[in-house]
Amino acid sequence: MKCDLVIVGAGPGGSMAAKTAAKAGLDVIVVEKRQEIGDPVRCAEGVGKRALCEIIDPDPRWIAAEVSGARIYAPDGTSIVMSEDRAGDEVGYVLERKIFDRALAMDAARAGAKVMVKTRALGLCTKGGKLSGIRAMRLGDEIDIQAPLVIGADGVESKVGRWAGIDTVLRPKDIEICAQFLVHDKRIDDMYCEFFFGNKMAPGGYIWCFPKGENLANVGIGIQGSKSKGGEAIRLLREFMKSHFPDGRIVEMVVGGDPCAGLMEKTSADGMMLIGDAARQTDPITGGGILNAMRCGIIAGEVAAKALGIGDVSEAGLKEYEDRWRAVLGIHLERSYQYKEFFVKLTDADLNQLISSLRNEDISKMDLRGMLRVLFRLNPKLLWELRHLII
Ligand SMILES: Cc1cc2nc3c(=O)[nH]c(=O)nc-3n(C[C@H](O)[C@H](O)[C@H](O)COP(=O)(O)OP(=O)(O)OC[C@H]3O[C@@H](n4cnc5c(N)ncnc54)[C@H](O)[C@@H]3O)c2cc1C
Repeated sequence: MKCDLVIVGAGPGGSMAAKTAAKAGLDVIVVEKRQEIGDPVRCAEGVGKRALCEIIDPDPRWIAAEVSGARIYAPDGTSIVMSEDRAGDEVGYVLERKIFDRALAMDAARAGAKVMVKTRALGLCTKGGKLSGIRAMRLGDEIDIQAPLVIGADGVESKVGRWAGIDTVLRPKDIEICAQFLVHDKRIDDMYCEFFFGNKMAPGGYIWCFPKGENLANVGIGIQGSKSKGGEAIRLLREFMKSHFPDGRIVEMVVGGDPCAGLMEKTSADGMMLIGDAARQTDPITGGGILNAMRCGIIAGEVAAKALGIGDVSEAGLKEYEDRWRAVLGIHLERSYQYKEFFVKLTDADLNQLISSLRNEDISKMDLRGMLRVLFRLNPKLLWELRHLII
């Protein structure tokens, strides 16, 4: 098999890259190891409304629910509310990713890309010292797909970067170990995405409850890898269920990892670009990565078309990808990483103080930065280490 561009992984990143590159006239093949795109769902499925609409027209078929904002709980139960348009990239719509991911892959196919499910990339091929495509396993047969350019969109467990010689190792403190139940319970609040903080409840992370309508919600937990023992995420999530949804019925369960790391030194090499979770483009504070994967997928698709157009897919020829995605996300991800590094050190007493200090402030129209400014004014001692990021 031969094509211009082969993409490993049909998640939101891979499908957006495929659609963009195919629309620009490239012959694109996407390989996906699963037999059904988007299933199983390892995601709480939350995205910001405005940010999503800037990337793609929302289709009611893949929106499970719309929320008015985020409710954030301190360990002592004190809560504050942020409006949806201020609460970041994960709050606004709760998607149905089984439908969403498939719809994005269909869009890529409509644009001309060939999508091959049940096809697992096994490694990169080289010819004369140059990358020349991938080797894959398809329905029990090993096949080679020849292409001068490969995009690794293979998620948190990405191997494509490593095969191309890039250090993609995540330190335990930079990965969140997650578990999630799809829960049916009458007590689910359909209006808000809820976030619960506490070092006992979710060490180095948080518990979420994202409503999906009709008394269903994704109830999940992320705990910092360095603070996690085997099976800890599920055990803590079950404890939370007992206290918050004692009558809840668990109808699905998934486990997975979410990169919450600093910026990778490089996300491209000769003949190869990485996007989405594979490139650790996830927000380190929230773990949200759907929209960033899509944004970077579009950039990678455009750069692929240009680089192949001029016949230069060397690392230097792909530098535009590094420059463009870092210009869009770099500072945000870097700051977010520093906030995360700071917040995971806070005690429950610190968290209680920070959240209760906001109770009498009007934070409904503030974004995270505005809220941090208020927090700093109200808790200067506690937030001293963050002053360079806020001012
Ligand atoms: C529990 C949990 C909750 C989350 N909640 C949210 C949320 O609410 N909002 C949000 O924005 N983000 C959330 N995220 C993060 C979000 O799921 C990811 O950031 C997003 O899916 C990244 O998209 P992607 O295209 O980079 O990778 P993925 O969606 O992971 O897609 C990668 C694809 O590559 C395929 N693949 C892997 N290896 C191979 C191979 N060798 N050959 C062929 N195919 C391969 C996989 O099967 C998969 O389909 C959450 C993550 C977790 C774990």
